[in-house]
Amino acid sequence: MTTLFARIIRREIPADIVYEDDEVIAFRDINPQAPLHVLFIPKTPVATLNDLTESDALGVGKLVLAATRYAKAQGVAEKGYRLVINCNEDGGQSVYHLHLHLLAGRAMHWPPG
Ligand code: AMP
Repeated sequence: MTTLFARIIRREIPADIVYEDDEVIAFRDINPQAPLHVLFIPKTPVATLNDLTESDALGVGKLVLAATRYAKAQGVAEKGYRLVINCNEDGGQSVYHLHLHLLAGRAMHWPPG
């Protein structure tokens, strides 16, 4: 299934891309929930967390590392940030191409909504 994010990877839909390497691309969320809200996605699509297998372990690690490095580069790491992956309906997932939200620039609430 072609998702919106696959189309962003192929540059068919514009996005504010802030980071890219061979396996990961990151762009600003169109509806930001914090002063800094960036989505990190694997270029090889996986629909949800439930679809991950052992062979995805390294890729997921790279996704997290890309986000943490970006947080450090943006100067928000010391103060703190939140990384979120929503899964399916109850998790609040709306795009079925796995993505990691980086949220920073304000204090986050707990429990989350
Ligand atoms: P989720 O609800 O976890 O699936 O997150 C999907 C995210 O994608 C939401 O935060 C949306 O605001 C964001 N989003 C949807 N369309 C776009 C787009 N064209 N460019 C950037 N972010 C988008």
